[in-house]
Amino acid sequence: MRWDYRVSFSQWVDSARVQVTVIDERETFLVKPSLPEVAFGLKRIGQITFSLRDTVNRAADFIHSRVLRIDPQKRVVEVEGAQIPYDVLVVALGATKEWDKVPGFIEDGSSVCTEVLAPRLYQRIAAFNGGTIMVGSAPTPTGSRLPDVPVINAACEGPVGEVAFLADHWLRQHGKRDDAKIVCYTPGPVFFDDVGDKVHQAFGSIAKEHQIDVITNKVIRRIESGRVFFEDGSEYEAALTVMVPTYSGPSVVKDAGLTDEAGFIPTDGDFRHLDYDNIFAVGDIATRAVPKLGHLAVLQATRVASVLRHDITHQGEVPSYDPEVFCIMNMGSKALLIRSNVLYGGDMDIAYYGGLSHTLKTLFDEYTVRFHGKMPPDLTQRLLNAYLDKVAK
Ligand SMILES: Cc1cc2nc3c(=O)[nH]c(=O)nc-3n(C[C@H](O)[C@H](O)[C@H](O)COP(=O)(O)OP(=O)(O)OC[C@H]3O[C@@H](n4cnc5c(N)ncnc54)[C@H](O)[C@@H]3O)c2cc1C
Repeated sequence: MRWDYRVSFSQWVDSARVQVTVIDERETFLVKPSLPEVAFGLKRIGQITFSLRDTVNRAADFIHSRVLRIDPQKRVVEVEGAQIPYDVLVVALGATKEWDKVPGFIEDGSSVCTEVLAPRLYQRIAAFNGGTIMVGSAPTPTGSRLPDVPVINAACEGPVGEVAFLADHWLRQHGKRDDAKIVCYTPGPVFFDDVGDKVHQAFGSIAKEHQIDVITNKVIRRIESGRVFFEDGSEYEAALTVMVPTYSGPSVVKDAGLTDEAGFIPTDGDFRHLDYDNIFAVGDIATRAVPKLGHLAVLQATRVASVLRHDITHQGEVPSYDPEVFCIMNMGSKALLIRSNVLYGGDMDIAYYGGLSHTLKTLFDEYTVRFHGKMPPDLTQRLLNAYLDKVAK
């Protein structure tokens, strides 16, 4: 349970005498977009974490505890040994990863989605002796209470593409590429169904150049040592099966009756719960977060911070929420920068492949760690946007 501390809110919070408490079961913040790099030995976990307590304490109280129960009627959050009353609750608990939906994953599967699994994948890559690397996603459902929210097949396929390209790069560097086949599987009819045709074309031609195959409509069913099985009855040899699992809401949120049938929290456009005026949801836990992207979580948290400031002080602007898919896929020495809002009815669909995208990714990730989760200043973002608009023309 946490407020997104990346939003600067300490000034108005102090003058409005608002008390903010952040609760998290972790002591450290993990920069998840860097996990694929950990899986290929480019970074260590220690380089992509920083103290959550120190960061939060600059602006709020921090409670290090698991949230055990939420009672929306009584307006109370229960942690280990205490009940914390609230007036406003912002739920940002992320998504639970449903590993056990795919039998055999625990024994024979691989992933980059946690700080345990990413280093383990590196051990397996280091011991790789040839064969097929299958990398893809299990399906993630979208709830039906918000008809304006787009429906896609997987939580987020960026890490899938990134793992495929980093594997390609690593295998070439170690003289093992000729012994390997790399295949991306997707549960839907299109890989990256959250972007438009221009990005699909760019990705398709780079994948071809790197001998990376894509297979579609493949819903993963089971993993065995050396094999992977799909719902359509097909099965493939797989020296390594890498998976981004099905996402759902944490049970503490489901048990509180806050979720839709897919397990996520349905909200209005201000990220306010459809049934509870004083509860907000941002990030992966929110039904509106499609795909499940940190970039969207930041935009949503910014919106909620502004809505609360406005509700409490009747001051300040509430910026519009303009969702876009923005990610940079590290490919070793180059990267693919993707920026697209086609999924939300827009016409922006940019893919920029090259060394500069790689430099941007490196700078962005280092900034995030060095400045403890802060986003680069507005000016930097505006310059980047202007540059990307120029590239797109
Ligand atoms: C491998 C990988 C690569 C990614 N790459 C990108 C990328 O390049 N760009 C991008 O924009 N996004 C990327 N993402 C997605 C991004 O990481 C998520 O969208 C983002 O982290 C969501 O933020 P969140 O705050 O909603 O959830 P989280 O980051 O999961 O944070 C949830 C917090 O809630 C805490 N918590 C959970 N349950 C409890 C409980 N019961 N009690 C107390 N605390 C609890 C957790 O400890 C955690 O700190 C990637 C994700 C992965 C897995």
